[in-house]
Amino acid sequence: MKEFIIEKESARAFDVDKGEHFRIIEEAGPQVADTVFFNRKDMEETFHAGMTVFMNGIQDLGGLYHVKHLYSRPPNMSKLFTVIEDTVKRHWVGVGGCCCSTLYKKLINDPDHPNCAAQFLEAFQEYGIPVTRVPDVFNIFMNFEITDDSKYKIKPPLARKNDYIEMRAEMDSVVVISACPESIRTAPTNMEKPKPLRFQIFNPKEEKPEI
Ligand SMILES: [Zn+2]
Repeated sequence: MKEFIIEKESARAFDVDKGEHFRIIEEAGPQVADTVFFNRKDMEETFHAGMTVFMNGIQDLGGLYHVKHLYSRPPNMSKLFTVIEDTVKRHWVGVGGCCCSTLYKKLINDPDHPNCAAQFLEAFQEYGIPVTRVPDVFNIFMNFEITDDSKYKIKPPLARKNDYIEMRAEMDSVVVISACPESIRTAPTNMEKPKPLRFQIFNPKEEKPEI
């Protein structure tokens, strides 16, 4: 088993081979783990949020808040990952976005606030991932609610320390995780305090590590 810490306000990339499992664990309390997924053999094939919600929905396997399978974008729509365990079942699957400088300028007039998009792009560059824009994101541990007039409302995460999501890779892949740095008081994404995350990779035929 390999274990890593994703420091607060940073992103890291990891290879996950077909058949391996990974876990994203709440290391220090409620913290959103914005995550993107690539097919390692074809980096243009990435996770697609909308089709993932749709495909799980028609198979009765989940919806906007939790899913069983993660699919890539059309036309491939391959199964990228399968969720094996999920101790929270409250995430945000369906939109695919993440925080960026434009958003912080709009929200708090501070384009220099640390943001997931910049963290992702830095991690892509360091890891040699040849893309310059952020693909669809799975907002793991993010607690959004849809209001009666069909808007999104950010709620505090339901996840607590040591909650986790575990997935099996259905192909050789690269997983990039951003510990979301959002710290605005009126948007309780990370309960106002960005925190680190923990990441484990293991072969389930050989071991089932402790959390
Ligand atoms: Zn973010």
